[in-house]
Amino acid sequence: GSTAAPTTIRQVKLEKECEFRVEASPDAPLRLRLLTGTAEIFGTEIPPEIWLTFPPRLKCAVFTWYGATIEVDGTTETDYTADETPMISYVNVHAVLDARRNRAKASPGDSDASQGPRVIVVGPTDSGKSTLSRMLLSWAAKQGWKPTFVDLDIGQGSITIPGCIAATPIELPIDPVEGIPLDMPLVYFHGHTTPGVNVDLYKVLVKELAHILERQFAGNAESRAAGMVINTMGWIESIGYELLLHAIDTFNATVVLVLGQEKLCSMLKDVLKNKSDVDVVKLQKSGGVVSRNAKFRQKTRSHRIREYFYGLSNDLSPHSNVANFSDLCIYRIGGGPQAPRSALPIGAEPAADPTRLTPVNINRDLLHSVLAVSFAEEPDEIISSNVAGFIWITNIDFESKKITYLAPSAGSLPGKYLIQGSLIWYEP
Ligand code: ATP
Repeated sequence: GSTAAPTTIRQVKLEKECEFRVEASPDAPLRLRLLTGTAEIFGTEIPPEIWLTFPPRLKCAVFTWYGATIEVDGTTETDYTADETPMISYVNVHAVLDARRNRAKASPGDSDASQGPRVIVVGPTDSGKSTLSRMLLSWAAKQGWKPTFVDLDIGQGSITIPGCIAATPIELPIDPVEGIPLDMPLVYFHGHTTPGVNVDLYKVLVKELAHILERQFAGNAESRAAGMVINTMGWIESIGYELLLHAIDTFNATVVLVLGQEKLCSMLKDVLKNKSDVDVVKLQKSGGVVSRNAKFRQKTRSHRIREYFYGLSNDLSPHSNVANFSDLCIYRIGGGPQAPRSALPIGAEPAADPTRLTPVNINRDLLHSVLAVSFAEEPDEIISSNVAGFIWITNIDFESKKITYLAPSAGSLPGKYLIQGSLIWYEP
């Protein structure tokens, strides 16, 4: 428990295969270091002696295979040691994937056999999908593989800001504090934090992303053999379930890892039973996974956007730019005016074209909007193009017709076309 002792430094001794689960307090960072033995955080070994500083609210676990002593400095929301974890079953999955990667590497030239495992992690919200994805990637990277991480969870976003699907190669075990390096991910902008707002657009983007990765794999035997780990959303009912099947199919997943839900597992086993090259594996959810409510998720999203512009520890210096209204070409995808019910055949529902592009006139609603900068060169390429990055509208002056926005750097934008979704951010 959290005690406000005068000195907050204390030691924690961990027996083999145990983990220390900790939640940093909401308003202060937490420091932690390894004193003896070996330990890892979500698959990444932590270095001996060096203090790691975790931002407020971070939830994590320090796991040891052979025993360790750690030192913790700072007050925590909660902390305890657990001796029951599903880590052995997780590392067994890793071993199977590793063998498949080796087999793929040994079969260059054969287009099927040279393909390493394509793993998709599915399960309800707060079942530990992101965490398991991270462990599998870090364990693979530790052994020298460069697996591709694909994040289809537009609600949280572990590669870039929320509202996006993205992919990036993982070349080193993921840093327990910094997370996934934001070097040059391949990012597609949906613009909303739930796919339900525009399901068709979500599917189109998933297809585009899969298509580009397929092309990259065709020319790169190393990443092809390493395969991919795909993280998905916690929405597993109705349309959410349909989108899972769509992702499994579109990425040609070969391993489906189902976390913490019997029903989902048996449903998937049933629909995939005729596909002999797809394994559906049920895995236990870790007791350490912390449930996060809507408010917490909203906060996390907002932090992710802040992190994009300012860095995790304010180490980036975004630039405030001014543009004329006429300089910006902003589009919205989907929605648009619907046909009136009276104009439709009896029984038909009015439907807006989900991938229709609508130019946006500068208006008050844009204030505090986060817009994506598309790589498209023509408006009709916007839907199928990935995005270079994001800007945030900070001021609109209707008299002088000037708009002020924050961008990661000064200078002209990497693309002409901007996309507006429903992402709004207020600097905390
Ligand atoms: P989502 O519903 O967003 O898809 P998820 O299923 O991906 O969630 P995670 O993000 O992996 O779940 O885990 C939820 C939270 O629990 C995270 O903050 C994560 O750091 C924490 N967590 C996961 N495993 C453990 C553990 N063993 N000990 C402590 N905290 C953990």
